[in-house]
Amino acid sequence: MQKYKIIIAGAGLGGLTAACVLMQAGHDVEIYEQAPALGEIGAGIQVSANPMHVLRHIGVGEKITSIGVSPGAYVFRLHDTGEVIQRFSLSKEHEAMHGAPYTQLHRADLHEILAARARELKPDVVHLNKRVKSFTETADGVELYFDDGTSTKGDLLIGADGLKSVVRAQLFGAAPAVYTGDAAWRILVPVEKLPKDFLEPVMSVFMGPNGHAVCYYLRSGTLMNFVGIVETDDISEESWTVRYPWDNLKADFAGWHEAIQTIIDTADKDQCFRWSLFGRPATMNWSSKRVTLLGDSVHPTLPYLAQGAAMAIEDGAVLMRALAQEPELPKALQVYQRNRAERTAKIVTQSTDNRRLFHLPSQDAIRAEFSKRDEGNDRNRWLYSYNPLTVPLV
Ligand code: FAD
Repeated sequence: MQKYKIIIAGAGLGGLTAACVLMQAGHDVEIYEQAPALGEIGAGIQVSANPMHVLRHIGVGEKITSIGVSPGAYVFRLHDTGEVIQRFSLSKEHEAMHGAPYTQLHRADLHEILAARARELKPDVVHLNKRVKSFTETADGVELYFDDGTSTKGDLLIGADGLKSVVRAQLFGAAPAVYTGDAAWRILVPVEKLPKDFLEPVMSVFMGPNGHAVCYYLRSGTLMNFVGIVETDDISEESWTVRYPWDNLKADFAGWHEAIQTIIDTADKDQCFRWSLFGRPATMNWSSKRVTLLGDSVHPTLPYLAQGAAMAIEDGAVLMRALAQEPELPKALQVYQRNRAERTAKIVTQSTDNRRLFHLPSQDAIRAEFSKRDEGNDRNRWLYSYNPLTVPLV
């Protein structure tokens, strides 16, 4: 098998996981990250079986499950009365069905675990304060240039540099990301401040007109994670770290279920964040001969299936397998994207469809829609059952 010198732009969840998978396969990897320090914001992330296979493969599965929460079920509720419209089992049933658990954890914890594992495999693998500016590609290799005037060389460049990817812009032309119409509020509340047993330990999604709210527990059940989605023309920066007034949050969810009111009322009023959600049209081609993309740089998605990071993690595993299977690098990159394009496009499309499903205008519309669908069955059939380490490559 060919062993490459691989340069990764971006040390997010996708870049770090890919680095671990590729180093374990024997490649020499360097990651270049623009930030001066590694880290993730304070919010939750859900990890279903499909990415968990990869996280186990790189040796961090147990750590993740030991600090995460295993939700009992996925529960769809009405936004005001809280009535349960549909639910499907997660927890033991998910693991029995798919061979890996469904875990909810703090993003910073996941990021820290991945960074630690990457550094265990190669202590100086991450280079901080390295903002990628551009690259050149020849028949012999790629060279990556940074804002600080330095550069580095390798055989293969992976753009894991997120929604505003510089690598993507150079490959396919700079095009601004498109506003989806939705903004995401995020708050974290210590459970000790909430009434006892106030929401069951499940993944709850409250569905209302023009918005929805997601609530689940983190850090062994000590933190409540709240993400509130609203349709709005008030576009802010695409950033998790924009603080917005608590009063706006309260107003956005006026009339919603009492559990939502309790979470909002208990939140630290200076720690309410709102992020405008942007996307890009799906693409089926994202590689040149020596440069490819991974994660949000190529298939950003609305988070309404909780699969953005999952896709980024899956990408790394399939890329590793494509490099092992196909000795010619340009062909290997084609194998990689060919085996990822359809699935990632389907996830993005279905996530967008969930915007409609979760924001229906009336109870009657919600009941009518859910009477025709079995969310658990559907997701178990194609979404969670995918194993990027064993799925046949075509
Ligand atoms: P990013 O996380 O954006 O990482 C990109 C990295 O590249 C960053 O570190 C950045 O600093 C760096 N970078 C950028 N430009 C440069 C440059 N020029 N030079 C050097 N470095 C650069 N996904 C799930 O799977 N499960 C969930 O439950 C889930 N919940 C979500 C909830 C919300 C509200 C949102 C908005 C998203 C959610 N997602 C979820 C999606 C998930 O957060 C993203 O898909 C995932 O973080 C993408 O990872 P990435 O590594 O591709 O990109």
